[in-house]
Amino acid sequence: MAEDYYERLGVSRDADKKQIKKAYRKKAKQYHPDKNPDDQEGARKKFKEISEAYEVLIDDEKRKQYDKYGEAGVRDQYFSGGDFTWDDFSHRGDVEDIFSDFFAGGGFGDIFGDLFGRRGPIRSSRSRARRGNDLRITLEVTLEDIKKGTEKTIRIHRNARCDTCGGSGSKDGERSTCPQCQGTGEYRDVRRQGFQQLIRVSACPNCGGTGEHIKNPCPTCDGSGRVEKTETLNIKIPPGAYDGSILRIPVKGDAGHRGGQEGDIYAYIHVKPHDTFIRRGDDIVIKRSISLTQAALGDTIRIPTLDDKVDMNIPPGTQPGQEYRLKGKGLPKSSGGYGNLIVHIDVTVPKDLNSRQKELLKDFSKIEEERKKGWFDKMRRK
Ligand SMILES: [Zn+2]
Ligand SMILES: [Zn+2]
Repeated sequence: MAEDYYERLGVSRDADKKQIKKAYRKKAKQYHPDKNPDDQEGARKKFKEISEAYEVLIDDEKRKQYDKYGEAGVRDQYFSGGDFTWDDFSHRGDVEDIFSDFFAGGGFGDIFGDLFGRRGPIRSSRSRARRGNDLRITLEVTLEDIKKGTEKTIRIHRNARCDTCGGSGSKDGERSTCPQCQGTGEYRDVRRQGFQQLIRVSACPNCGGTGEHIKNPCPTCDGSGRVEKTETLNIKIPPGAYDGSILRIPVKGDAGHRGGQEGDIYAYIHVKPHDTFIRRGDDIVIKRSISLTQAALGDTIRIPTLDDKVDMNIPPGTQPGQEYRLKGKGLPKSSGGYGNLIVHIDVTVPKDLNSRQKELLKDFSKIEEERKKGWFDKMRRK
């Protein structure tokens, strides 16, 4: 029979958080795979079992649920797929803390890469420090910019890591457990609404979610580990970028509280509407009006491109709405090469004709009718 969560950790059913933490600490050390070279597989399994128990018992809500409904009650509700996996484990920071003094020095990252599988090694020490905010910016570019690709220089205002304390927030590195959250780093706001209980979990305001209390705060950042800075940043925009595409610039966002990892910058590309061209995928479209006679007789017209001008032949008999393609004069394609410049032809019908022009057009029309009649006669005779 499987042990229940309390048995796994070896604590009584009314154990408080401190006792649970302590018990987990002890067991974690006992079952760490590296301490069990003869039975690594078994140790790993045990380690996972105690971590599952810890995940549930250290959390008031989950524990309550467990006490009421047992393992099945928490598995379905809190573990993705109904079974505990390392993805469900939200206390990696605690594990790291446990082993930070245990395995002081080398090989640390590898152990966790192994334990936590695809998630890879835990961040360096103080893992409970929260990651900083991502920043979102918009970059305006023109079609000309994305023809060649461009670099934009922007100024950003962000919370950067404090250089004086390296982000730790501490003047001398001395810390103790945060008295307000007892080291959990969490603040729980519980409210009742009718029969429902609303629980909002946020970072402990006293320690910013780190669970640690700093004895002597760094004078530069007042213990937050961050300082406000305005920085200049060059961002490369690749050729052919689309409107709405997003560039991620890693670790240029806000620094986390007390050494937490920096967030990223997400740069949203906004392609400004162009005066002359409309984008159609990798092609660009230009509308040109030609006269009735140009359409009928053909002509050569000059067409602007994104970086140049070219002459284009309009063949005789061009119709309104007809499109001609100038190969390779469009935007860069992700697959290599360039899209086309498409020339959309409108035909302007002349207004305000003088009498001579009217006469000529009437003559033109007469000839057209005769030609048509001749053609019908020919058809009839056949
Ligand atoms: Zn706290
Ligand atoms: Zn500082």
